[in-house]
Amino acid sequence: MTKVTSINPYNGDEIKTFKTHTKVEISEILNKADKRFYSWRETTFAHRKKLMLAAAAELKKNIKEYAETMTAEIGKPISQSIAEIEKCAWVCEYYAEQAEDHMANSIIKTDAHKSYTSYEPIGVVLAVMPWNYPFWQVFRFAAPALMAGNIGVLKHASNVFGSALNIEKVFKRAGFPDNCFITLLVGSESIEEVIENPNIKAVTLTGSGPAGSAVAATAGKHIKKTVLELGGNNALVVMKDCDIDKTVDICVQARFQNTGQSCIAGKRLLIDDKISEVFIEKLLVKVRELKSGDPMEEETYIGTMAREDLAKELEQQVKNTIKAGGKLEIGGKRQGAYFEPTVVSNVSPTMDMFKQETFGPALSITTFKTVDEAIELSNNSRFGLGVSIFTKNIEAAEKIAYKFDEGAVFINSLVKSDPRLPFGGVKESGYGRELSEHGIREFLNRKTIYIN
Ligand code: NDP
Repeated sequence: MTKVTSINPYNGDEIKTFKTHTKVEISEILNKADKRFYSWRETTFAHRKKLMLAAAAELKKNIKEYAETMTAEIGKPISQSIAEIEKCAWVCEYYAEQAEDHMANSIIKTDAHKSYTSYEPIGVVLAVMPWNYPFWQVFRFAAPALMAGNIGVLKHASNVFGSALNIEKVFKRAGFPDNCFITLLVGSESIEEVIENPNIKAVTLTGSGPAGSAVAATAGKHIKKTVLELGGNNALVVMKDCDIDKTVDICVQARFQNTGQSCIAGKRLLIDDKISEVFIEKLLVKVRELKSGDPMEEETYIGTMAREDLAKELEQQVKNTIKAGGKLEIGGKRQGAYFEPTVVSNVSPTMDMFKQETFGPALSITTFKTVDEAIELSNNSRFGLGVSIFTKNIEAAEKIAYKFDEGAVFINSLVKSDPRLPFGGVKESGYGRELSEHGIREFLNRKTIYIN
């Protein structure tokens, strides 16, 4: 057993110290989870729906309690923590209503008297989750998993153990039986033995490439399915015929919400050089207006980053880019875990801010001359999570959507997750899908039933 202390990145205060679970405790927890599976899968959709709607109601009822812990743990502005929890209630309501339809048998005509696919839960699923959306990343896994009849075991990031326990509390308060959703308090060094445990049937991970690769390697060795949602380096492709004012607003939100710490943030702004000057001017006005401050204050839009080491990493990427010829338009300074909203123009594909994922409030700008060049620049990335295209010619944008190597193309919108739409990437952004009927089916046995 070791101890893990959460530190508030805004003021450096110690929030709480948690004892991690021992090997024996881990094994006991996983045994109990497996045992619960056999009774949980027998429950009806109507029963699970009632509990999931109660979870949504619980999130709304105690929203302040959950939001404040999140804000203290990662420096996330309180208004955005509240919005995140509201979105979690939405995903619970979505799957409460839709799970039964998503799992209905699909009849397939063959030479049999009757044949169909039956969708069945597989057991205990491990979720290795990151700190950047401490509730949302977990709920978008947990709501479909529990509605499907699976059991969820959460290994949350070590800096958000308070939120991890709060999530367990939400399901308890909603009336879910014990051991339906359990939080394991363990560091990443324990994950290998957790995955090896025969009670774990599959793993989903949201986080960095190295974490995804390590988890998938262990799971692969034990023939267990994985879903990986890793990083992104989304482009914001701004065509010369876009609505400039609206596009500026969307781009600022796409890059700077959640203090830039989002896998689907628009990190690389690619802009037609014919409008770049006027666009950058308007963009800088908006970036200057972003209010930094105490994350607990209602008006704060930019909080601190989640940890000082992450802010230092971003600082280095920005410095390297400027050294290589990037032009600092605004920001660039760090103080502890706080990093100023930053914009660097004149960025080329060899520079750090273009080729690496920047996980914080820093936007790179690169110009293009033709649409083909814009597509090439957008695709010039190890990642493939999503892209936004801004133009008034929607028909033309839709026609080129297939050329982008991405999990999602959003036209005149920032890339966002929505319970009704599949979410996930290609290339090093991972594989598998979350949300919608695609998400719930990832951890189901698609059983063939053949009756002669
Ligand atoms: P990590 O990917 O390291 O952490 C995410 C989760 O994975 C945590 O629960 C972590 O546990 C766990 N983990 C880490 N390494 C391993 C491992 N080898 N085996 C099993 N589990 C592991 O994110 P960081 O906090 O280090 O952030 C680094 C970078 O990752 C960011 O700058 C960003 O680029 C990317 N990232 C992407 C996210 C996304 O939404 N796609 C979210 C967060 C980060 P523990 O905390 O105990 O180490």
